[in-house]
Amino acid sequence: MSFKDLQLNRPILRAVAEAGYENPTLVQEKTIPLVLKKKDVIVSAQTGTGKTAAFALPIIQQLFDTQDTVKGGKKIKALIISPTRELAIQIENDFKTYSAYTNLRTAVVFGGISIDPQKEILKKGIDILIATPGRLLDLHKQDVVNLDYIQTLVLDEADLMLDMGFIDDVKKIERLCTKEKQILLFSATIPYKVEQLASSILKDPQRIEV
Ligand code: AMP
Repeated sequence: MSFKDLQLNRPILRAVAEAGYENPTLVQEKTIPLVLKKKDVIVSAQTGTGKTAAFALPIIQQLFDTQDTVKGGKKIKALIISPTRELAIQIENDFKTYSAYTNLRTAVVFGGISIDPQKEILKKGIDILIATPGRLLDLHKQDVVNLDYIQTLVLDEADLMLDMGFIDDVKKIERLCTKEKQILLFSATIPYKVEQLASSILKDPQRIEV
């Protein structure tokens, strides 16, 4: 299977080719079509399998397709929650690479550094936000993050997120987003507490294992 077979548009195909990717990985082959069909998914995949592109590429595709028609322009339409700042930064770098030939705007926010520059970036308006849970909730409390237009919510490394004690924050974030959103849950392993979280917030999820 090729990236073209996955119905990705030209700006994305170009970025992927420039990244040196020849063909989709297994997790990308299985996940991308379901995300494009707006399904909720539970994906068990380790880091290194290409899982970031498995959610980033179809999110960029969906936003790119609707870009001109989305009312209000630069509202946050995709939110990716990551347990650590290092992972969050890596995910944002990947989104920037894959969306280089679109005019989608991305940003990353995480704790441990000054909040003010992050507020300034958010005020300018972005399409895709990558965040660690605590800082996102701080920014929301300060009224600089609007989650009313989120179409897709990604919970990355869900097992690690719960091990780090973020369960209540994750549930709170989920409730702050619109009801109609699509949720993509990625986890290296699917222990009972991840299953529990999934069954409390995902709708009829499709399961993918690689
Ligand atoms: P991840 O599992 O998302 O951490 O990705 C692991 C590595 O695989 C990253 O360095 C990606 O740049 C790379 N990668 C992702 N998709 C592909 C692909 N289809 N072909 C080759 N490398 C890829």
